[in-house]
Amino acid sequence: MISDEIRALLREELRGLTAYGAPQLDVPVRLNTNENSYALPDTVARAVTEALRAEVADLNRYPDRDAVKLRADLAAYLGHGLGFEQLWAANGSNEVQQQLLQAFGGPGRTALGFVPAYSMHPLLCAGTATAWVDGGRAADFSISPEHVAEQIRRVDPDLVFLCSPNNPTGTALALDVVEAALRTARGIVIVDEAYAEFARPGTPSALSLLHAYPRLVVSRTMSKAFAFAGARVGYLAADESVVDAVQLVRLPYHLSSLTQAAARAALAHADTLLSTVEAIKEQRDRIVHVLRSRGYEVADSDANFVLFRAYPGGVAGDQAVVWRRLLDAGVLVRDVGLPGWLRVTAGTPAETEAFLEAMKSTEEN
Ligand SMILES: *Cc1c(COP(=O)(O)O)cnc(C)c1O
Repeated sequence: MISDEIRALLREELRGLTAYGAPQLDVPVRLNTNENSYALPDTVARAVTEALRAEVADLNRYPDRDAVKLRADLAAYLGHGLGFEQLWAANGSNEVQQQLLQAFGGPGRTALGFVPAYSMHPLLCAGTATAWVDGGRAADFSISPEHVAEQIRRVDPDLVFLCSPNNPTGTALALDVVEAALRTARGIVIVDEAYAEFARPGTPSALSLLHAYPRLVVSRTMSKAFAFAGARVGYLAADESVVDAVQLVRLPYHLSSLTQAAARAALAHADTLLSTVEAIKEQRDRIVHVLRSRGYEVADSDANFVLFRAYPGGVAGDQAVVWRRLLDAGVLVRDVGLPGWLRVTAGTPAETEAFLEAMKSTEEN
């Protein structure tokens, strides 16, 4: 709670806001924040522990300010001919995006997004005093190249946020949408690809456009597919100039030597870590399939979560009622504030089972 006295001292644009917060409830089945349900495999946990142990004796020293080795490892993981100069890392992709706004947004500047999308994008704008404009989407949550170009011409933003696969709807963007933004906008175009590893086969990444567009930034994270959310490691790939620009605003030594060491150890085992991705995609597809077969409307998903209508048969009821009934059945999903819709994370087969069973219980009166 912020008292009236303190609220009066707050920057005006922050006064009406509530802090970002998915409930962290102690529930048997937690499917509300798109975490990877699988713990780190033993081999990886041991490698991370060893890397941390080796680092501890040097904690009297500041870390490598520029995290060059980690950035080289991330470049190698991404491929596409990228080098460490085109990579930048921070404490989660949230911090990466905040740094982009500090460098390219700020007072008097505007960012354009297409809601519903990641709810942190407007919050990061508020925190950096960047104006936020919602360009909107079609009723089926799609955005076309024409719509994106039209909104960019209308708003003339300094930054454009695209999210692919999009959170909370789950669907990836075709590259012609990204290219329409890049061709129309004069500013930075950020493509948030937090869920890229879960995309359905044949879904292209905006990484393949980097060579042609110096204003393109692709944001990635180790929080989802890599099952590394607790370590806080996000990164971007962009033109070397964008990376140099971001270094003007980053705090010195922002990424601790423990974080850098843990991330590098995890990346050395990327194949093992990513081995859960296929299993999670199977559960994702199963949730989509079963819910549709029971008459629920479900958005196509390229991510590790599924957006679905809370009531079958196109009924537009209050999603909060279904959210509460699922919670009563021991299953926590996410109410993203979209009237009539809920979002569920795809996890283990047992979690899917529990969720699908609990959904049946929501249909009883
Ligand atoms: C989860 C998520 C992130 C990850 O943020 P981190 O700070 O890297 O944990 C970024 N973007 C989107 C769209 C997400 O859903």
